[in-house]
Amino acid sequence: MIQALRGTRDILPEEVGYWQLIEATAREILGRAIYQEIRPPIFEQTALFERGIGEATDVVGKEMYTFKDRGDRFLTLRPEGTAGVVRAYISNKLYGQGGVQRLWYTGPMFRYERPQAGRQRQFHQVGLELLGSKAPRADVEVIALATDILQALGLKNLQLDINSVGNGSDRQQYREALVNYLEPYKEELDQDSQDRLTRNPLRILDSKDPKTQEIARNAPKITEHLSDESKKHFDTVLQLLTDLDIKYQINHCLVRGLDYYTHTAFEIISADLGAQATVCGGGRYDGLVSELGGPETQAVGWAIGMERLVLLLQELQGNPVNNPDLYLVSRGEIAEAKSLILAQKLRNAGLSIELDLSGSAFGKQFKRADRSGAVACLILGDAEAENMTVNLKWLASGEQQTLSQSNLLGMTEELKTKIAEIKRSF
Ligand code: ATP
Ligand code: MG
Repeated sequence: MIQALRGTRDILPEEVGYWQLIEATAREILGRAIYQEIRPPIFEQTALFERGIGEATDVVGKEMYTFKDRGDRFLTLRPEGTAGVVRAYISNKLYGQGGVQRLWYTGPMFRYERPQAGRQRQFHQVGLELLGSKAPRADVEVIALATDILQALGLKNLQLDINSVGNGSDRQQYREALVNYLEPYKEELDQDSQDRLTRNPLRILDSKDPKTQEIARNAPKITEHLSDESKKHFDTVLQLLTDLDIKYQINHCLVRGLDYYTHTAFEIISADLGAQATVCGGGRYDGLVSELGGPETQAVGWAIGMERLVLLLQELQGNPVNNPDLYLVSRGEIAEAKSLILAQKLRNAGLSIELDLSGSAFGKQFKRADRSGAVACLILGDAEAENMTVNLKWLASGEQQTLSQSNLLGMTEELKTKIAEIKRSF
C-alpha cells in the first residue's frame, strides 16, 4: 500500500468546507478592493527563488524542493508566492499597464520542514501583492484587508506585530551595530545564530532559542537606525493603522524570514495556536522587482497560512456543509430510468439534488434521504413515472403532495425560496 508523503495531507470532504469558506471570504473581501486573482505556475527555475528570496535564508538554504528535470534544468516547487507573482508581473509586463497592480493568489506551497501541527511540507496560502506604490497607505490597505479577512472568518485573539526594517542603507548601518552588540555573546548564541552572525545577522533576532531571544531583547533596535525618510514612512503607517482603529504592537525583533523586505514588516499572530502561531506574514519589498530584472517598482504584500486558519476555524464551528435541497428516491425499472432525467431538469433549474442510485427498497432510501440533510424528498415509483407525476415530501413536517412533473418544473423558483427559508430556520 502506497502511503501519502510525510508532511502532506489529504483534505477530505469532511474538512473541505473550511477551505472553501476561507477562499470565498478572501475572494469577496479582496474583490471589493479590486484585487485580481493571478495563477502563476507551481514550479519555476530555481534561480528565481535563490535570487528573489535570498540564498542565506532558511527557505532557500534548507527548505526548497529542488530537482533536475529531464532537460537538466534546475527547478523548484514554489516555497512561497511572491517571487512567482513578481516574475509573472515582469514577464507579462504588467507594469506597462501603468498605475498599481493589485493581485492575489491561493494554492499550495512546498517546503522541506519538520512536519507538526500547523507545519507541513505541502501547505497552502492565500496571499496578495500590491505593486507600484510606495505610499504608506498601500502598506495599511493590505494590512487592513488581512485583518478584514480574519475578522470575517470570526477569528479572535489575534495580534498584529509590526516593525520597520528600513531601506538597504539603514539596514547596512544597523547590521554593524547589531553585530557589534552580539559579538561578545557569540558563544552563548544557538548554533544557527552563530552561523548567521556573519551571513545574515538580522535573522538572529528571529531565533526561537530562549537564550538567544534573551540576548536579542537588549540588542539595539532597528527603528533607532532609520533614516528620516524611513522613519517618516513607518510613523505614517502607524498613524494610519490608528486611524483605522487597527491595534498593533511594535516588535523590534520582527525581521521576517525572507531577504527582500524593506520598511514595513508585519505578522498576525493567534493566541490560540501554540508553537506555530503566525497566521499571516508580510511586508514591503521595494527592491525585489528590480532585483529580478523588472523596472524599479515598490510593492507590499502578505501571505496567510491556510492550514493554521483551518485549525482555528475547527475550534469555532462545524465544517460548513453543503446539504442538498432535494433527495430523489426511485424504485422500479421505469421510475429509475426517469429519475435521472428529472434530477437533471431540476439541477438545471438551480436546485441541488442528490439522486439515490441504489435501487434498494423505498424504506432504505428514505433513511438515506433523512441522513442526507435534504429539505425535501422526491419520490418516483413506476406508477408516478408512468403518469408523469412525482411525490414531494417535506422532511421536517412529513407533509406530502403529489404533483405533475411539469407543475413541479414550473414552480422551481417558489421551491427555491421555500427551501432557503427552511434552511435558514435550521
Ligand atoms: P514560520 O515562522 O511559521 O516558519 P515563515 O516566516 O516561514 O513562518 P512565511 O514565509 O511568512 O512563513 O509564510 C506566511 C505564512 O504561511 C506563515 O505565517 C504560516 O502561516 C504559513 N506557513 C509557512 N510555512 C508553513 C508550513 N510549512 N506549513 C504550514 N503553514 C506554513
Ligand atoms: Mg518558516
